[in-house]
Amino acid sequence: MYEATLDYAKQQDELDELSSYRSQFHIPKDKHGNTLIYMTGNSLGLQPKQTKSYINQELEDWANLGVEGHTEARTPWLPYHEFLTQSTARIVGAKPIEVVTMNTLTTNLHLMMASFYKPTKTRYKILIESDAFPSDKYAVESQLRHHGFDDKAGLILWTPRQDEALLHYEDLEAILEDQGDDIALIMIGGVNYYTGQYFDLKRITQLGHKHQCIVGFDCAHGVGNVELNLHDSGADFAVWCTYKYLNSGPGSLAGCFVHERHAYNKALNRFTGWWSHNKETRFNMRQEFDVIPGAEGWQLSNPPILSMAAVKASLDIFNEVGIKKLTLKSKKITGYLEFLLKTLGEDTIKIITPTSPEERGCQLSIQVLDANKALHNKLTKAGVISDWREPDVIRCAPVPLYNTFQDVYLLVEKLKEVLNKN
Ligand SMILES: *Cc1c(COP(=O)(O)O)cnc(C)c1O
Repeated sequence: MYEATLDYAKQQDELDELSSYRSQFHIPKDKHGNTLIYMTGNSLGLQPKQTKSYINQELEDWANLGVEGHTEARTPWLPYHEFLTQSTARIVGAKPIEVVTMNTLTTNLHLMMASFYKPTKTRYKILIESDAFPSDKYAVESQLRHHGFDDKAGLILWTPRQDEALLHYEDLEAILEDQGDDIALIMIGGVNYYTGQYFDLKRITQLGHKHQCIVGFDCAHGVGNVELNLHDSGADFAVWCTYKYLNSGPGSLAGCFVHERHAYNKALNRFTGWWSHNKETRFNMRQEFDVIPGAEGWQLSNPPILSMAAVKASLDIFNEVGIKKLTLKSKKITGYLEFLLKTLGEDTIKIITPTSPEERGCQLSIQVLDANKALHNKLTKAGVISDWREPDVIRCAPVPLYNTFQDVYLLVEKLKEVLNKN
């Protein structure tokens, strides 16, 4: 059904129900003023034009009100995070009590492990994907050391089969049958950052729970990209950042999900601060600690409102479009990229991302035969912003909110040019 012509791509853009959203974003240009083909929304999402006015509003309220802004700002700062709750819950498929926006991603991962990684002498191991994002791997290794365990002996890797890139559930099942009693925590990237494989969160959770393991997900590459359904997955916890598909700006705040079944468990130990304390009595200052039910009970500090304003600016757009429409376009535009890449021939490129649209988001990880970083640099010179992951993978993400079918068509044309395939 797809066609490898610029006319076809243009026609698809005209038919695209979401095409008007592109104009709500700043699309980067080269130094001559030519619009770049931006394919790295999976790494740093583009800036919504309205972000500036959201942040400016807080700067103005701070200038005009000083400390009174906590209660008198147009969007009062004290409950500011609550204005993000509904849209966040919707986007990750959770109940409002299960989500909060706070801190940064790796910090949240540690806070979750402080509560949910409860190793004993016999059950202390942590299972992760062999190709987990480095920060996640370093974080779980440090948790093992923190509890006095060896960070090599304590780590179990879910590894692809020989000469494959993707992971098989049967292999996870086998690990659990074999070593399930030793495993305290299963921590998986919801969508793997390298291959783009979107895991069946529910299946992994059920497998883990069957063996009494805690199950958590890092959804940095899932949030805003796929329909996560975190509540239904049954996962114990999840974390994500907001600067990738959620377009909230470099290093912006992160999200956290704690399943409802843990919401009222005050016995669950955690690291706390005044922002995890009951809002009614927070400012009485000398109260005994009284934890807020739900994910908010893991907050530590009063949050950075300027970053939070950027998160709100972005979530307001997602809220308007809805993740269903986004994933619909995502499947179509990603399928188009796949179709065009395949015209290059299997002796030139191999897509390591799953072929099933249900098992991926909009990122395709492209292995180019005999490629090295020079190829990627040529692509960049040709006006394509993609990203390179050692040893030989180019990751491209046609983001449904602001990328076009023409972007995808031109990307592949440029790739052909640098590969001398035209
Ligand atoms: C992007 C990403 C991170 C980055 O962590 P920060 O704490 O935000 O710097 C960590 N883990 C995964 C899986 C990621 O995709």
